[in-house]
Amino acid sequence: MPEPANLSHRPRVLSGMRPTGKLHLGNYMGALVNWVKLQDQYECYFFIADWHALTSDYADPSQIAPNTLDVLLDYLAAGLDPARSALFLQSKVLQHAELSLLLGMITPLGWLERVPSYKDQQKNLSNKDLSNYGFLGYPLLMASDILIYQPQFVPVGNDQTAHVELTREVARRFNQFYKLDGREVLPEPQVLLTPSPQLPGTDGRKMSKSYGNTLLLTDPALVVRQKLKTMVTDPARIRRSDTGDPDKCPVGDLHKVFSTQETLARVYDGCRSAGIGCIECKGWAADALVQILEPLQARRAGFSNAQAIEILEDGSSCARARAEQTMHEVRAAMQMTLTSDPGSAAAS
Ligand code: SF4
Repeated sequence: MPEPANLSHRPRVLSGMRPTGKLHLGNYMGALVNWVKLQDQYECYFFIADWHALTSDYADPSQIAPNTLDVLLDYLAAGLDPARSALFLQSKVLQHAELSLLLGMITPLGWLERVPSYKDQQKNLSNKDLSNYGFLGYPLLMASDILIYQPQFVPVGNDQTAHVELTREVARRFNQFYKLDGREVLPEPQVLLTPSPQLPGTDGRKMSKSYGNTLLLTDPALVVRQKLKTMVTDPARIRRSDTGDPDKCPVGDLHKVFSTQETLARVYDGCRSAGIGCIECKGWAADALVQILEPLQARRAGFSNAQAIEILEDGSSCARARAEQTMHEVRAAMQMTLTSDPGSAAAS
């Protein structure tokens, strides 16, 4: 667990995920693998954003709590280590909400309306009424999630850099208005770009829960093999005797990420000469995936729900201590601290 307060000298990073349920290989390769590595170099805070889930799932929040547990167990399965990282729940650190409220006072409405995901998501989730204040304000809540830990870096994929840019703009605006003893309180965090392959789902589109094309970290070997059997392939390979091209096949893309060089060479040779069939090729891909997934599943099975909840409580307590330290400075800089000496309201 990160050392609270000022005791850690490593640069700090913060990242999180919404509790959308069991995580898939795309989440693993796109974020978790990198987060696990960051634990060696950084003071790490990784959270589950249950309030964010509420911005779109407010009408039926029944799945948020069970999904939170699933995400936490997948964090642990992937190798996030509660002894080295604070694994916490957003709603257990009320300071996030306080900072979001205060930053809301200085954030122009237009900054929120122009966030690309605002209009995209409203279009994509047309079955939900997202004209609520919480949904419009969620990038600001996200900015607060970040700034409250005063991190130097935010590890994100390419598609999330706009959120970090908004966070930097909000910090800049805050620092222009308010200072504490002449210094800035909210440093602008840098993006730490996560190099990650884009994994295809079983239908060939990007692997995503909303497409229903995922391979879950918890899928047993039999399920993985079954899902691979129905995975789309190079459309030019209709008959067994047709040649194909792994570069035009989603199964080929999986091989490139997960298979050994030796297997990959057999895939290229066999596919381009029609020397192998797709069933055989998919079997090799499934072998590689099962090899990745089984150790994760074994690690996940080592945690009971009760242990996971305790880990989340401990991590949230550590995060609260760090967040309160920032809020102390924020309140003082905004002169929200009562003092018996009217001339020194910001001196706390
Ligand atoms: S042999 Fe493999 S790479 Fe080639 S089309 Fe079939 S599944 Fe795809």
